[in-house]
Parts: sequence; structure tokens; C-alpha cells
Amino acid sequence: MKTKVQVIGAGLAGCEISHYLAQKGYFVTLFESKNVKPNPVQVSKTFAELVCSNSLRSNEITNAVGTLKAEMRLLGSLVIEAAEFAQVPAGASLAVDRVKFSDYITTKIKNNPSIEVVEKEVVDFDASIPTIIATGPLTTPDFQTKIQTLLGTDDFYFFDAVAPIVKKESIDMNKVFRKNRYEKGETSDYLNCPMNKDEYTKFYQELIHGEVAISHLAGEAELKYFEGCMPVEAMAKRGEQTLLFGPMKPKGLRNLDGANNYAVVQLRQDDAKDSLYNLVGFQTNLKWPEQKRIFQLIPGLENAEFVRYGVMHKNNFINSPKLLNLGLQLKTNPNIFFAGQITGVEGYVESSVTGIISAINLDRWLKGLELLTPPSTTVTGALIHYINNASNTDFQPMKANWGIVDDIPDLNKRENKVLKKTLLHERAIEDLQKYLNKI
Ligand SMILES: Cc1cc2nc3c(=O)[nH]c(=O)nc-3n(C[C@H](O)[C@H](O)[C@H](O)COP(=O)(O)OP(=O)(O)OC[C@H]3O[C@@H](n4cnc5c(N)ncnc54)[C@H](O)[C@@H]3O)c2cc1C
Repeated sequence: MKTKVQVIGAGLAGCEISHYLAQKGYFVTLFESKNVKPNPVQVSKTFAELVCSNSLRSNEITNAVGTLKAEMRLLGSLVIEAAEFAQVPAGASLAVDRVKFSDYITTKIKNNPSIEVVEKEVVDFDASIPTIIATGPLTTPDFQTKIQTLLGTDDFYFFDAVAPIVKKESIDMNKVFRKNRYEKGETSDYLNCPMNKDEYTKFYQELIHGEVAISHLAGEAELKYFEGCMPVEAMAKRGEQTLLFGPMKPKGLRNLDGANNYAVVQLRQDDAKDSLYNLVGFQTNLKWPEQKRIFQLIPGLENAEFVRYGVMHKNNFINSPKLLNLGLQLKTNPNIFFAGQITGVEGYVESSVTGIISAINLDRWLKGLELLTPPSTTVTGALIHYINNASNTDFQPMKANWGIVDDIPDLNKRENKVLKKTLLHERAIEDLQKYLNKI
């Protein structure tokens, strides 16, 4: 008799999980709510719906998300199989006919005799059955409540308020200084970008006239969000001095030579490896090219490489650094795993790959084996290590990028960026293969 497992959510992650566990000999009950409880964003009747863009982004191996796809091929990803079946021309990107893509996955899932699909909204579940929760960024409100009860209200989030993140190696260290406000604390943790009045005025003018993105989730929820967490450009529009009392406050941040600054942008370390820094308080809804153009006016950031731009949208995700182990298993209840965007990764392929890793680990756990996650030399592993090690007081979602992947020592000195990324790719594939040999 097959062991029963349950998966909640037939999105990208949920379909990967069900497909993997059915292949491993389990009997999977897969719950999906959207056909009985529609939401305004997911409108098709089929599973693994791509809600916005039809692109799974770059396929180039020198791009971290391209390498992630190469890793997913090795992991036997159903999402990549479907994407290649439904591919449409899109240069170096893997874009799909979204209907064909979802139909392909839905047929595979529904025709699998080891998967029982139950079209209902889960509001509670039998936690004695091994369960993977993959209800995504649009988890239904009643199930949000259930998850909050399970985890605690403080560890379940409703919105992204993401400030941009830049690579430390791209910051001009001659222009910034290290200091904590009022020199509090034993170490100097923040990098500070000082501005004089002219620099501030120019920056301010560009910021208030910057082009903002139109949110896909405009409406009441977003308005509530803006009250709680103001985008930097919206705050700036309240008056020229507003930022000087908010995220660009110079007080307590004199230069190392004691000189006063007119304004200061603070950068805070974002990863355990100390390779990434975020712009503190700079959550933003500016279009991405505008973020690059305007934020590069900040002294020290003229050549900043952005590994993640600021975004603002509705997104349910949990405090993974606090709640999950590296196998994506809930620390307080090993019978429950989480996968997909709800873990705090962001993007179609990122969500899908956490589905595969959670399924691998549920299987291993049920067999009494050690949980295993690829190393952070792989893009898959780097994402999961990121959500595991990020700050649990200010956790925000992360996409695939080279900044979170372990660097190759001495590689920064090489001038050829393509060569560097090719080497990172080759190491990632080699290490993922080693991981596969272990599981
Ligand atoms: C509006 C919007 C636009 C986006 N655009 C992009 C984009 O262009 N590119 C990109 O890479 N990423 C985009 N994303 C992120 C994208 O949603 C995720 O990358 C991906 O779909 C998440 O996969 P998932 O499997 O975690 O969740 P989903 O694919 O959302 O799947 C979760 C499934 O769980 C179901 N579910 C929810 N609650 C319950 C319940 N109580 N009971 C049973 N089933 C339930 C849902 O109906 C859904 O089918 C966008 C997200 C949003 C919200």
C-alpha cells in the first residue's frame, strides 16, 4: 500500500511536488481552490497558471536564472519540461504559450493514477498526514488565518516591501563610510553614502519625477499597504524635506572626519556572506530602469550592480529564516513542509524549484534519511540557503541571482565577466550533479 501525502495548492510548486512524489511511489492528494473559490488574478481553470508574464526569464547559462533552469532540468522539473514543450520565440529567454504550458502540466497531473486532485479550498487539514503547503502569494484568506494560527501572526506576511539590493563589490568604497547612527553598537555595520545639498536637490528632483510601475494589484489592499509602508518616491512627494527626517536622515551620521552631511543613504548588509547590501528604507514602486538611473546618482553607487530591484505587491510569505530548516520543513512540526513563493523566494522558476527540493526532503524524511539541500554554489541551493539565513526580523523575498551564490575565490579580479559567470555555471552544474548522486 502506498504512503499517503498531501499537497495544498496546484500551482507551479504544488505540481512539481505532486509529480515528484508520485514518481517516488507515494499516493498524493493535491488540493486546489481556484475553481471553487476564484480570485481576481488566477483566472484559468488549469493548474500551474502563469499569472503575469509568459516568460520564465533568461535561458542563458551566464545568467543565474538560466543556470537555475539548467539545474532544474537535472532535477527532472515538470515545469521546465512543460515550458520547453510550450516554448514561443523570445530571444535568449524561455517564454511560453501560457495556455499550452498549463494544459501540459494539468494533463500530466490529472492523468497520473498516483495523484488524486481535490478541487476545494483548504481551510484546515489533517496534520497527521505528511503535508506540503504550496498555496503561493495569493493564499486564500481563510487559509491565511489557519497558517497564522499554525505559525503565529507575526511570522506570516501579506505584502512585499522590497528595497533594492546591490552587490558590495560594485560600491565605490572611497565615497562611502562605515558607521552606525550615533555610533551605537560595538561594530560599525552600515555603509553610509553622504550627500551635499546640491547632490540631494538633484537626486530629489529625479526621484519625484521618476516613472512608477503600475501595480498588478491596485485597489484597497494596496492602499492599506501604502499607509503602512510608504515607497520612497511617494514619501518624497510629501515635501522636499520629508526624506531628511526619514530614510535619508543625516543625524548621528557625521563623516569620519567629523563633517556634517546634508543627507545620507544607509546601506545594510543583506546576506551572511557580506556580499550584498540593501538601501535602507528605499522600498519603491519605481520602474526598474528608473531605479537604476536614479539610485546611481547616490554617491558611491554610480556603478552599483543591482541584484534585486525594489518591488511592491501583494504577496503572502512566511518568516522562513525563523520557521523552516534547510529541507523546507517546519521546525515545530516535521510533518509539515512549505514550498513555492510562500517560502519567500520570488518568481516562477524559483518557486518551482523549491517544490522539487521540498518533495525530495519529504521523501527522505519519511524514509528516515538526513534532509539534503544542494550547496550554495548552485543557484537552487543559494536560494534556499538565502531564505534560511536571511534576517528573520526584516525578511523579504529573493529571486535567483549570482550575488547569493558562493563566489569563486580570486574570481573577482578577473576582468571577463562572461568567463566568471561561465565558471560559476560550470561549478553549479557539477555540484548539483554531486547532490543528485547523494539523494
Ligand atoms: C499578480 C502577480 C504577478 C506575478 N507575476 C510574475 C511574473 O511575471 N514572473 C514571475 O516570475 N513571477 C511572477 N509572480 C510571482 C508568481 O506568482 C510566483 O512566482 C509563482 O506563481 C508562485 O508559484 P507557487 O507555486 O508558489 O504559487 P501559485 O502558482 O500561485 O500556486 C498556488 C496555488 O495554490 C492555490 N491555493 C491558494 N490557497 C489555497 C487553499 N486555501 N486551498 C487550496 N488551494 C489554494 C492557488 O489557487 C494556486 O493555484 C507574480 C505574482 C503575482 C501575485
